Order: sequence, then C-alpha cells, then structure tokens
Amino acid sequence: MKIMKFGGTSVGRPERMHQVKDLITRGDESKIVVLSALSGTTNSLVSIGEALASADKVLAKSRIDELHAHYKEFYPQLLKSDVAREKALEIIKEHFEFLNILLKISFNEAINRDILAQGELLSTKLFHTLLEELEIPAVFLSALDFMSIDENSEPELQKISDKLKAILAQHPDDTIFITQGFICKNHLNEVDNLKRGGSDYTASLVAAAIQATACEIWTDIDGMHNNDPRIVDKTRPIAEMSFDEAAELAYFGAKILHPASIWPAQQFNVPVKLLNTMQPEAHGTLIKAEVDSVGVKAIAAKDGITAIKIKSSRMLLAYGFLRKVFEIFEKYKTPIDMITTSEVAVSVTIDDLSHLEHILEELGTFCSVEVDRDQTIICIVGNMVSESKGAIQSVIDSLIEYPVRMVSFGGSRHNVSVLIDSKFKKEALQSLNQDLFTW
Ligand code: ADP
Ligand code: ASP
Ligand code: MG
Repeated sequence: MKIMKFGGTSVGRPERMHQVKDLITRGDESKIVVLSALSGTTNSLVSIGEALASADKVLAKSRIDELHAHYKEFYPQLLKSDVAREKALEIIKEHFEFLNILLKISFNEAINRDILAQGELLSTKLFHTLLEELEIPAVFLSALDFMSIDENSEPELQKISDKLKAILAQHPDDTIFITQGFICKNHLNEVDNLKRGGSDYTASLVAAAIQATACEIWTDIDGMHNNDPRIVDKTRPIAEMSFDEAAELAYFGAKILHPASIWPAQQFNVPVKLLNTMQPEAHGTLIKAEVDSVGVKAIAAKDGITAIKIKSSRMLLAYGFLRKVFEIFEKYKTPIDMITTSEVAVSVTIDDLSHLEHILEELGTFCSVEVDRDQTIICIVGNMVSESKGAIQSVIDSLIEYPVRMVSFGGSRHNVSVLIDSKFKKEALQSLNQDLFTW
C-alpha cells in the first residue's frame, strides 16, 4: 500500500481535483490518499480566527461569507449530477453553519483549531463526493479517528499505527482510502493540527504507521529544487537525495516539505517521492536512505531567526557552562538551531520567540547577552559536504560581499550553515546559486 498526498494547489481548482482522480485511479496498488485544504482556504480560516480573536465579528463574518462564496462557486464546476451537487451543497452548508455559529459564542484557542480543521474536512468530503459520482469505490476515513499528538504536540506514531491498522482491517477488499492531512486530535481529545504545511507530515506519519511501500507528495513543482525557486532564478530539480539531506532542507526552509516530514518515513525506510500533479510524468525527486552523489546539492533558507550571543569570562576553561545555558532553553521548550562557540562566548539561534524575554532574563543572571533579530540561516546541503574539497571555501568566497554572523560546519556530514542579516538573503542565495553549481 502506498500514500499519495496532494497539496493545496493540487486540489485548489475543480479541474485539478479531476486530475487527482486520474492519478489515484492509475495502477493496482492500494493507496491512502491524503488531501490538503483547497489553496487559500487555510489562510482564510486563519484570518477568520484572527478576526474572532480580536472580537471583530463584522470582519469575521465578511471573511466567512467570502470563503463560503468560493465554495458555492467551486462545487458546480466539480460535479455534474444533481444528486452529487445536492450532497456537496449539504456538506458546504454544514461547515459554514458551524463557522457562523462561532460568531455567537466566545472565542478560545480550541475553537480556533476547530476553525482551521474545516479546510481539510471540506476538501476530502468534496473529493469523496466526486468519486461517488463517478462510481469509483473509495473509503472515507476521518483523520480525527487515528491521528493524534501528545501533550508536547508530538505525534503518537505507535497509537496512530494501531488505530489505522485496525480501521484498514475493517475494509479488506477496498483499495482507495481518502483522508485529511494536517488535522489530528490532541491529548485532551480536542481537534488540533500538525502546524502549517502539516499535510506532508500526516502523509509521512501514515506511511510510517502502515510501513507503506512509498510516500508520494504531489505538489505544484517537479520536485525539490537546488534552491528556493520563489527567490532565485534558474533553479533545477534534484533527481535523488538522502533522507538526511531532505530533512535538513525541509527543516531549514524548503517549503516544499513540512519541516518535520522526513523522520517518520526515514524511520521505516519508506521512500518519499516529490511529484508534480500538473506534470505527472516528470521524474521529480526520490528521497531514500542512501545516495551515491558527492558535493553540494541544494540550498535552503530559514527566516525569522534570532541570534543570541552569550558571553562570560567564567566560560574560560570552565566545564558545565554550556549545560547551564542549554537548561534554560530546555526549561522554556525553545529549540536551538545553530550553535557556535569561542573560548568566552557561545552564540545560538532560535526561531521560537515566545519565551525570549524569560530566557534573556535567566541568562542575564550569570552572563552578558546580545540579541540580533531578523536573521536568516542559509543551509547548504550535500552528501559529505564537509569532506568534499574546498566546499567551505567556495561558500565563504561566494558570500564575500555579505557580513556573515555565524558559520556552522562539521556538525553533520551533509551541512554547512551560515547566518546572515535577512536583508542580504536574496542576493546571498543568488550568489551561492551561481558559484556552487556548475551548469
Ligand atoms: P503544497 O500546497 O502542495 O503543499 P507548497 O506550496 O507547500 O505546496 O510547496 C510547494 C512550493 O514550495 C513550490 O511551489 C515552491 O514555490 C516552494 N519551494 C520552496 N523551496 C523549494 C525547493 N527547494 N524546491 C521546490 N520547491 C520549493
Ligand atoms: N492546509 C494546511 C496549510 O495550509 C496544511 C497543508 O496544506 O499542508 O497549512
Ligand atoms: Mg505544503
């Protein structure tokens, strides 16, 4: 059995949903089809939540109506028969009635997560209605029945596996299953989600849960490119990469994959394929355990980074200093991305600023701290980058024009990371693109 995940643009227009139908009905292999919300929907739902959070009911209502109008336009183009159209109208009515009810009750975070879940529920129900109309047998699965996260918002893979396997066992003769990406239940049994872009994560978790033969991520581009195509000219797709390389690129900003979406597939050695819904015959990118290539493969960039320089003369020849520093970040559940050290100072970067004030306060009790905001981590990834001759030299040469704040090299065999002010990001990426790739 394989997993086929389709992103927002792949289901965002009626004709695209028809294309998805063609793709999932090819071949004999059984599949679990994971769908995102229609493109733009989650953004709209976020803005509805924001309007409700700021008690602006008029704004919330107008955003709900706008989104509702979009769906009322969408379904008649998707479906032909009266029966199917009536069913779709019912589905849309139910979900927008729910959103409208929220205008009348007091808002809280749990309600906000319920709002965000509407997109994937709508897309999967509408798609399932299309399959019914075309008499293509498919089982509708609610992700809320098997996808769960614990109190630290970490997916509960074993539970997911047990529940999903039990559900699939009830349908021994079915070959197509449709479910929602992104959404899940949390430890309080409330509706929750895997964070923005989380449908990729769902796909990989489901792939791991059933030890699928492949996890196909269908999107609007022909695979992982060697640089961010939204920013850099002349990027090109990478045919193959290792799980480690892909994980690093995803984590450091390659939007094509959710930051955490590689580890579940990697854990069970399920190959991940990045494929283009609009160009299904294109090779795309195959992500697997081992790849042969050597040298720089791709670059990604992560914005919104804050660098903290922690300085203390007591660090000199002392042990236990780093532990003390890291304990503070641990206490506030704030992950550190980059670290560089000297004899008297350590610099770290974080992107979650929710507890910055507390962290700085506690650090300030035993050392001096300096903070640089609006930084970008540029991550250069390749197989054995650190062993390929001159790799670090060419990175430094290429960035000669830009003030580099931190460099991290040698932490793994496939990564060099540099930190620069975000205002230099575009030029720095373009320069690296020209200098590190020979085509
Ligand atoms: P989906 O809605 O299918 O999940 P996303 O918008 O989340 O799609 O991800 C695909 C987009 O990621 C591409 O259209 C592209 O603009 C962007 N992207 C950013 N970095 C990369 C990269 N290195 N390779 C490919 N795409 C990238
Ligand atoms: N719909 C969600 C989002 O836009 C999840 C996803 O598309 O992966 O973030
Ligand atoms: Mg995505």
